[in-house]
Amino acid sequence: MKGYKPHWSQTSARLMNACPRAWAITYATTSNALRRPKRTTTTPPHTFDELLTRTMRSVWLKRLEDQYQRKLWSEPYARRTFENAVDDAIDLVNMRVPQGQLAIGKERSNQQLRALEQCQTLRPLFTGQPRRWGFFDRRTSATIGGMEVYAAPDVALFHQHRWTLVRLQFRSARRSLLGQQLEHLLMVHWAMNQPGFPKNMEAFRVKVVQWQGQAWKEHSVMVSEGLLRQSLGLMAHDVQEMTWLQRWANADPTMDSLPLAVHHEQCQRCRHRPECPARNGLASAREAQERKAMSRTTTRRSNRPRRHERRSLS
Ligand code: SF4
Repeated sequence: MKGYKPHWSQTSARLMNACPRAWAITYATTSNALRRPKRTTTTPPHTFDELLTRTMRSVWLKRLEDQYQRKLWSEPYARRTFENAVDDAIDLVNMRVPQGQLAIGKERSNQQLRALEQCQTLRPLFTGQPRRWGFFDRRTSATIGGMEVYAAPDVALFHQHRWTLVRLQFRSARRSLLGQQLEHLLMVHWAMNQPGFPKNMEAFRVKVVQWQGQAWKEHSVMVSEGLLRQSLGLMAHDVQEMTWLQRWANADPTMDSLPLAVHHEQCQRCRHRPECPARNGLASAREAQERKAMSRTTTRRSNRPRRHERRSLS
């Protein structure tokens, strides 16, 4: 199918694992009938929480950019910058948010951003150490085994002869703990395939800084040869599934036979819901899909000439 190039990114892999149909519509179709709204580089946020998360991420990136150039942000400036960014994002997508909810959302997110500067892993960036560090946009890819992989760390810090690659999670992830750890390890592959970073795994540590409702929690991820191999295996498996789904979508442009979401919560925030068979309930849509598949199999069997008929036909 034209327009689709196999690649791996956390967003794409998570969507595919959550709902193959939504993934195929988002990444694998060139038939625009099902792709509404028109695909853009970033899809608009669907909920206020999603909008806040994205705004926190973009303001954080701006904050790091300035910090890197030693431009300090005062507390009122940081607050104003974030609040203006939220207002702009709301205007851009024309979202309606009640005043009370807006004020609480801004306040909480502001506190979350301020707390991030104080976490143990990132505090050195704001106290003048370390001397070598960098920040990255997740949209920067690296070619790993011939595949475009979007797995850049959010921050990399050089400390005690090693690079610490930091993954920030502004919201808790849903994937299994092992799945998440293998995803985090792709940061090491990403770095080893970037100019300026060492090529050996011993030169890296991996840290995850994750927001858990009230506070940022930090943990390290073990880096070993075996785990790095597994993380590549996970990526290869995801990409293989994507290629297969893309072919399936190509063979059935209606997408009616493609697997639906694993959990119904996925449907609640899905922008493809109005055109999806699951718009009135995931369970009933799945049953209807199974019935259709069964009847197709039965029709195919009954249309097949029986053995004695085949003999007389030959
Ligand atoms: S509504 Fe549910 S099943 Fe349909 S595409 Fe969206 S997530 Fe998938």
